Amino acid sequence: MAVPLFDLTRQYATLRAEIEPAVCELLALGNYVLGPAVDEFENGAANFLHSAHAIGVANGTDALMLALRAINLQPGDEVITTPFTFYSAAEVVALLGAKPVFVDIEEDTFNIDPAQIEAAITLRTKAIIPVHLFGHPADMPAIMAIARKHDLRVIEDCAQSWGAILDGQQTGTWGDAGTFSFFPTKNLGSCGEGGLICSDDAKLAEKSRQLRVHGQSQRYIYDELGYNSRLHALQATILSIKLRHVDSWNDARRKHAAHYAQLLAGTPYVVPAERDGARHIYHQYTLRLPRSLDRDRISAKLTERGIGHAIYYPRSLHLQPVFADLGYETGDLPISERVTEEVLSLPIFPELREDEVEAVGAALCEAVADGG
Ligand SMILES: *Cc1c(COP(=O)(O)O)cnc(C)c1O
Repeated sequence: MAVPLFDLTRQYATLRAEIEPAVCELLALGNYVLGPAVDEFENGAANFLHSAHAIGVANGTDALMLALRAINLQPGDEVITTPFTFYSAAEVVALLGAKPVFVDIEEDTFNIDPAQIEAAITLRTKAIIPVHLFGHPADMPAIMAIARKHDLRVIEDCAQSWGAILDGQQTGTWGDAGTFSFFPTKNLGSCGEGGLICSDDAKLAEKSRQLRVHGQSQRYIYDELGYNSRLHALQATILSIKLRHVDSWNDARRKHAAHYAQLLAGTPYVVPAERDGARHIYHQYTLRLPRSLDRDRISAKLTERGIGHAIYYPRSLHLQPVFADLGYETGDLPISERVTEEVLSLPIFPELREDEVEAVGAALCEAVADGG
């Protein structure tokens, strides 16, 4: 049985009767830019997250960019972040003329290791960007304690963690701001592009709102250089509908993850950890393969059987060509470098069927039995 890595059409089929009339109504009303649809989604998002403010923007990368501008990040500042993630956080730090400083990760959660942050702090350090990678919360109590001690700002990259909880608190609400992405494959995904900033800080929220409309404080009065980065009303309409389902989708992801863990018990695959107090929402289900298994061969066998899978992520950010000028070398961040060679992500999405999870598990077990 072939199993896709993800299949957006299955979710759409379950929502079609809700989405199509709402989209048609918006099209007929003509409020395409900001307006009531965006207000409604922002209110729903703020309620869901238990955050005072939510600001819809064009995508998750812009959410990071605007949040960093809103904390007044300046050229020459340093921002501590993880090398094992999607590119955006480091990219926007560098685009703003600041310097990404990479700190190695915890091998079980794949998230930034708080125990290694303090050694990376200098007089120029302005902020920390933890990423709740694959939907597992980063160690926010430890990160916030360091931030308070050194007077640093914290922007949480929550692009993969909508609805993930740590110690009863949503990711995105620990630091100064949380940033989200609604790229279609995210666990709360739009039908195009979208992003959001949440914050309890009224000033930060106000500045983010201005920055998304060119830095405009009143109509046609510009206080500073900004962006054209608005959440589209069509996407907001769809997201308001999806918001009502996302908790149950995250539950379904968790159920599939438990099923995988059961099927892979007793194999050499290292299944994802879930720390005490954490609600992992399994945006990705990412295994680690021991060195005794040849990842290329396992991957080829899965491909042969039509089992979707991916390597998130094959190259640590400190070793990306674009950051060569930062002077990092192979061996500098050994855990991040090692996991790039060990990880393998399996199909996980709410609409995945149990027999499909079993087919993936069986294909993996067979691949080991064949000698990896
Ligand atoms: C997807 C993603 C982003 C970027 O979101 P876009 O909406 O594609 O710009 C940022 N950070 C992480 C961790 C992501 O997974």
